[in-house]
Amino acid sequence: MRTAVVVGAGIGGLAVAGALARSGWQVTLLERADRVRPDPTAVVLWPNGVRALRALDLGAGLDAIATPLPDGGVRRPDGQWLVQPRPTPADRMPVVVHREDLHDALIAGLGERVELRTGVSVRTVRAEPGQRPSVGDGRQRFEADLIVAADGTDSEIRRQLAPESRVVSSGCAAWRAVIPWYRAPRLPADQSVGGETLGAGYRFVAASLGERGSSGASSRGGIYWVATAAGAPRPEPPETQLTLLRRWYSGWPTPVGELLDATDPADLVQQEIRELRPLPRSYGFPAGPGGVVLLGDAAHAMPPHLGQGACLAFEDAATLASLLRESRLPDAVVAYDRLRRPRAATVVRQTRRMSAVLQARGRLALRARDAALGAISPRLLSGAAASAAQWRPPS
Ligand SMILES: Cc1cc2nc3c(=O)[nH]c(=O)nc-3n(C[C@H](O)[C@H](O)[C@H](O)COP(=O)(O)OP(=O)(O)OC[C@H]3O[C@@H](n4cnc5c(N)ncnc54)[C@H](O)[C@@H]3O)c2cc1C
Repeated sequence: MRTAVVVGAGIGGLAVAGALARSGWQVTLLERADRVRPDPTAVVLWPNGVRALRALDLGAGLDAIATPLPDGGVRRPDGQWLVQPRPTPADRMPVVVHREDLHDALIAGLGERVELRTGVSVRTVRAEPGQRPSVGDGRQRFEADLIVAADGTDSEIRRQLAPESRVVSSGCAAWRAVIPWYRAPRLPADQSVGGETLGAGYRFVAASLGERGSSGASSRGGIYWVATAAGAPRPEPPETQLTLLRRWYSGWPTPVGELLDATDPADLVQQEIRELRPLPRSYGFPAGPGGVVLLGDAAHAMPPHLGQGACLAFEDAATLASLLRESRLPDAVVAYDRLRRPRAATVVRQTRRMSAVLQARGRLALRARDAALGAISPRLLSGAAASAAQWRPPS
């Protein structure tokens, strides 16, 4: 039986571990934390991410927890439309999912053939010709035919195999929260929850996860919001961060203020936004009978402006699983790099263009930004949808 070690039980690691196990691999999943636990926020999955999950046979689980996210348009802080909401065909509509629901669905997909070992922090990797690849935590070594590094932005495995790729700050921080449905603000009938508001260096996006338990909605209902601001994360306690957010976004159109008022400090998740520059020179390192591959944020951490990080991790997992079904192992490692690196590079390029628009500050830059948004918004803002439309799991 073919064996794999997957390092990291985040979204990407769970997805690929389950996929390999379902194709008959014996999988060991190593996680440095004591428990496998996501942050209590949500994630938007574009059609490419949804397609990848379906290719991984996780479509039924997803349908039970996903809420469709109609286009809510883009406004300025004074309420004027930069981009009016447009009807979205069902097959191009993203969905929003509570991360805890998503983790539950991915864990349910692990099956019997995955040995999950928590509290194991991988520190070394061996990927040399003629030797089975392995990883170690300083106390023991784990050898397998294939090692999947899904250990996130600060990946130790990537640091050793692709040291040219560095983690750098993207120059902004993000705050996220899910307000449970019972605390969600009641909005005027003509106001929808969803949509985006863009200011000078500030951005606010909201999405409804629906009412708890209602048909087709997340089993953890509520309203998800994410606010991005240029600058560093705040060192103050969450109460003070929330006060700052309410000040920064004061006067912004409904529902921004209402959502911030309904948020508890305990709901708040703050994060520095970081990215890889440059991307690793390779995502596949043949070794012995197989090799090591980089997957998810370990391979292509990027700012979340297009909401594509998790979607790409699922694409990585679906591509790897498909290649491993079709090809011999060392060939699959090489083919994985050939297919995934250009794809990730394209999405990173789109994200960087978006970063420049989102982080525009100063009157001239803002005017240029608004003009650009008005003129090329369909092309720019539907970048994610366009890449979504293009990507298909390899057959
Ligand atoms: C504010 C924000 C909003 C976002 N919104 C979206 C969105 O709407 N849509 C979208 O598609 N993406 C979004 N993303 C991106 C998405 O969250 C990430 O791309 C995705 O979670 C990456 O998953 P991963 O499994 O690769 O990495 P991670 O989730 O970081 O998981 C890595 C795992 O590896 C473990 N680990 C790390 N080091 C070791 C080690 N040495 N040994 C063992 N285990 C280790 C960690 O503990 C962790 O469990 C967003 C990101 C941010 C910051």
